[in-house]
Amino acid sequence: MTLDNLLSVIGGAPALPGARCRGRHHLFDDAGPGEDPEAVEQRHNQALGLCSRCPAADRCRAWFSTLPARQRPLGVVAGRVNTPRPVGRPRQTQAAAEVTS
Ligand code: SF4
Repeated sequence: MTLDNLLSVIGGAPALPGARCRGRHHLFDDAGPGEDPEAVEQRHNQALGLCSRCPAADRCRAWFSTLPARQRPLGVVAGRVNTPRPVGRPRQTQAAAEVTS
């Protein structure tokens, strides 16, 4: 699902006049299956550059921060890269490191 589609599906998504991502979802989308990680990084860097000059960035960030983590779109949104969370419980070593830090 592209960001444009997702924004149209989610109720309560704000109007973001001047949004630099409109019509450029191909830069913002999460990595596709088998997509070269270097190509993903390059297009995400382009997307982050657009976010940094976006007149709707403040409203976008405010909207994004209200979404529960599970409902946040993947890919570049609001000037950050939102990557999928690993499925299942964290590894014991990772969970232990998070508890002790
Ligand atoms: S900050 Fe980025 S994701 Fe948000 S509306 Fe602007 S270009 Fe789109």
